[in-house]
Amino acid sequence: MKRQVSYQWRLREIMAAHGMFTISDLVPLLAERGIDLSVSQVHRLATGIPERLSLPVLAALCDIFTCTPGRADRHQGRERRRPQDRYRQRPGEPQRQATDPRPPPPRSMNIPPLACDNCGTEGWRYRRGLCGPCALAADLRAVLDGGDGGIRPELLPFFEGFRTMTNPRAGIQWIFTPHVHQMLRSLADPATPITHEALDEMSPWRSVAYLRDLLMLHGVLPRVDRHLILFQRWLRDTLTEITDPDHQHVITRFATWHVLHRLRRFAERGPVTATQTDSGRAEVRQAIAFLNWLSQRGRELSSCGQADIDAWYAGAYNARRRTHAFLRWAMRAKRLHRMTLPHQTTTNPAPISQHQRLAMLRRLL
Ligand SMILES: [Zn+2]
Repeated sequence: MKRQVSYQWRLREIMAAHGMFTISDLVPLLAERGIDLSVSQVHRLATGIPERLSLPVLAALCDIFTCTPGRADRHQGRERRRPQDRYRQRPGEPQRQATDPRPPPPRSMNIPPLACDNCGTEGWRYRRGLCGPCALAADLRAVLDGGDGGIRPELLPFFEGFRTMTNPRAGIQWIFTPHVHQMLRSLADPATPITHEALDEMSPWRSVAYLRDLLMLHGVLPRVDRHLILFQRWLRDTLTEITDPDHQHVITRFATWHVLHRLRRFAERGPVTATQTDSGRAEVRQAIAFLNWLSQRGRELSSCGQADIDAWYAGAYNARRRTHAFLRWAMRAKRLHRMTLPHQTTTNPAPISQHQRLAMLRRLL
């Protein structure tokens, strides 16, 4: 005997239970979870009964409405009788009534009350009993707990500022990202100083940069130039990767007294731009590459001659012109003999005119 399985699709009801009455509200929430559906596709999903549904879409819907698949659809299974069994009464079965063609009455929707248990705000509840802002505040308070049930006073401005963010769901997801959670737990510990230097020890750098921005925004940390801080961090990592101690010594002095010095001057005038720090990174990288190349030729900076300089630039002038900064600095610092650095420039964007080009083509044809 085959079992006939059917299901109810209750997305519309659940959207309404969460105070969501338009399809366009659902589209961005799906997109946040990597499900890119058009408005018309979501419309079909909400108003029709889908025959097929991908598991990522179902998982995203369950996440949005913090429910289980059992709530989004409710399947029913019942045994389908063969035609010859239709009128046969099974043992123990009560006398069957005439078949009622109407669909079974809908089960009660069991919609929970929509007011937040904590603040009483009516609206979309993030999880059982709590609205989004209250859920975020509770989670953040738990993460920033310094061990005595409270938040250390230095972090209170950050707590108060962060809990009022416009998208509490994104905030909760962020604080529970494993490395962010670890950083916040570390800052919550009263033994950790809340300083830029303490943040420098944390990783990965992108998350540290974002946390640093937030702490500066809420006045927990003094303002510093973001790009300059990122550059210093990059420089520290890059310098420790140089294996040759002599090279490391020279590059450290060049980076400190030339590149970093210049960026600090920029910072005094205004925010340092990414282009300025990128240029500094390129100069340091080229300097390291030049010293390595020189070593392979069996030379040191002090024994480098004009032939070496010419060979370095030959055929790769544009790629290596940023070495100029290092070589000029090395000459000023008396680490390199005075050399002539190649200089190529073109002020004319069109080296030959259209007339000349056509004349040349005619000669060739
Ligand atoms: Zn609330």
